[in-house]
Amino acid sequence: MAERTLIIIKPDAVQRHLMGEIIGRFEKKGLKLVAAKFLQLSEKQANQLYSAHREKAFFKPLVKYISSAPMLVMVWEADGIIDMTRKMMGATFGYYAEMGTIRGDFSSSERYNLIHGSDSPESAQQEIKSFFTPNEIVDYKFTDAHWLYGKST
Ligand code: UDP
Ligand code: MG
Repeated sequence: MAERTLIIIKPDAVQRHLMGEIIGRFEKKGLKLVAAKFLQLSEKQANQLYSAHREKAFFKPLVKYISSAPMLVMVWEADGIIDMTRKMMGATFGYYAEMGTIRGDFSSSERYNLIHGSDSPESAQQEIKSFFTPNEIVDYKFTDAHWLYGKST
């Protein structure tokens, strides 16, 4: 199975009508959507999602932000997807993120940076598990997979 990652279109991106823009970039890159849920997190669930940042000064406002309004939680799949999607997201702070990235093109904020993406295979596995049961993740093939993923040898 190809690598999977958890992507969240965060509440600011939903409110700013950027869901289609962000999904469109992933689609055009040839990445495969295998699961999705539109939901609003409780504070408790937000605490769990960002538990790695529990000690940080920005933890409380981060939890408040992420649980303040609905968001779109997805699993995307492709070889090397974690690196690719992190590059497509851009640096954490919108004002530092390179132009051409999602955050670089649409965010100027430190916190309201539109998108979450898992940062390692271990965190991807754990984050995916916290939002989706195995039977909520769909297994299918693209008919043009050869053209999308053809290797050089
Ligand atoms: N964040 C924040 N203030 C900071 C750093 C991060 O509000 O000084 C928020 C921001 O929304 C970020 C999230 O906390 O996306 C998680 O931080 P992380 O370092 O994991 O950044 P990411 O992996 O999202 O680039
Ligand atoms: Mg992170």
